[in-house]
Amino acid sequence: MIADNTPVWDDEPSWRPPAPLQGNADCDVCVIGLGGSGLVAVRELRANGARVVGIDAGDVGAGAAGRNGGLLLAGLADFHHDAVARIGHAAAVTLYKRTLVELDRVFAEFPDVARRTGSLRIAASADERRDCVAQFAQMQRDELPVEWYTGPEGEGLLMPSDGVMQPLARVRAMARAAIAAGARLHSLTHATSITGRSVTTDRGVIFCERVIVAVDGRLELLLPELGSDVRSARLQMLATAPAPDVSVPRPVYWRDGYEYWQQLPDGSIALGGFRDTELESEWTSDATPTPAIQDRLERFLRKHIRTSAPITHRWAATVGYSHSGAPICSEVRDGIFAIGAYSGTGNILGALCAREAIAWAMRGRQHALVITST
Ligand SMILES: Cc1cc2nc3c(=O)[nH]c(=O)nc-3n(C[C@H](O)[C@H](O)[C@H](O)COP(=O)(O)OP(=O)(O)OC[C@H]3O[C@@H](n4cnc5c(N)ncnc54)[C@H](O)[C@@H]3O)c2cc1C
Repeated sequence: MIADNTPVWDDEPSWRPPAPLQGNADCDVCVIGLGGSGLVAVRELRANGARVVGIDAGDVGAGAAGRNGGLLLAGLADFHHDAVARIGHAAAVTLYKRTLVELDRVFAEFPDVARRTGSLRIAASADERRDCVAQFAQMQRDELPVEWYTGPEGEGLLMPSDGVMQPLARVRAMARAAIAAGARLHSLTHATSITGRSVTTDRGVIFCERVIVAVDGRLELLLPELGSDVRSARLQMLATAPAPDVSVPRPVYWRDGYEYWQQLPDGSIALGGFRDTELESEWTSDATPTPAIQDRLERFLRKHIRTSAPITHRWAATVGYSHSGAPICSEVRDGIFAIGAYSGTGNILGALCAREAIAWAMRGRQHALVITST
């Protein structure tokens, strides 16, 4: 039997979501969205002594943060040489280096959940191999960690600093730590409107000094002023039962990263991809898996990864893509800060943006992630 839009990561039957908000609340900062980014924001706020209320329309990790491929990748969604061309050399190098620091933090903080395995970008064609050469050269020039790779997966690049994690276990651990540190978290509490000093939800009003909106997919629905910068897309995955017929020691990024997979400690394969093959219909905020993409994933699993392990899970979630290629990390209205639109790779970038937004919101320090399109 295949789990119905449930990620393979949802393996903790004893998990209980935090209780919904009941009535009005008062705090210094309200964080909307309890994914990885929102929970880093909550933690940073508590470390700054702020009174925090964090809410989520669903559960902790109900969005992409608990439903993703679990790859921990340095840099932006664009490969480094593309990021240099798109947002400028200084910004691309600074961001890459800051995500390396963020990676170190995750591996140190979650040794039971995250593993530094390195990651592979494997070329799916001669053209892509040439692109790998260009990326390799740019990364070497910028003294960023990269090795040329040839192995059973094919030819391409090895990023030794990257790794994998169990994404839902990470966000649940962060939520438990946030509650223990004095934050108030509420699930099933949907923000419907935000003003400078309050967040109205379906359960009550939260009065606050500042608001952090930490929502990746569907960000433009909550903050319509970002509609010209951000667009939501659906990404889909499947997972198998333990697959003893294959060995995947490191996560693989294939065909420009459109396909990606990792093997879990129990041997299961988690595989995602093929968004570009149904591009128009995948620009959506609907997070339901579709037969067209799931069929492609299944064929790839059998023909390319070459496992016959039965499929146990199929799921989807939405993420935000930015038109500039850089994430959103801005004060969109007075006292309202938005982070999101990581263009498909937000596990590390989201944590970095959260840290940056809190420094900005609490200390008035201007946005150090200065990003402009070139
Ligand atoms: C299938 C898939 C595979 C991916 N693979 C990878 C990968 O391998 N590596 C990687 O780095 N990235 C990957 N990503 C992207 C990554 O998962 C996201 O960028 C990241 O998890 C975003 O986390 P977040 O906390 O910023 O936002 P989200 O996880 O989107 O969290 C936002 C939360 O806000 C809540 N919310 C939304 N609107 C409201 C509202 N109005 N009121 C209250 N709450 C609200 C949602 O319920 C959600 O829980 C993948 C994404 C998907 C979908």
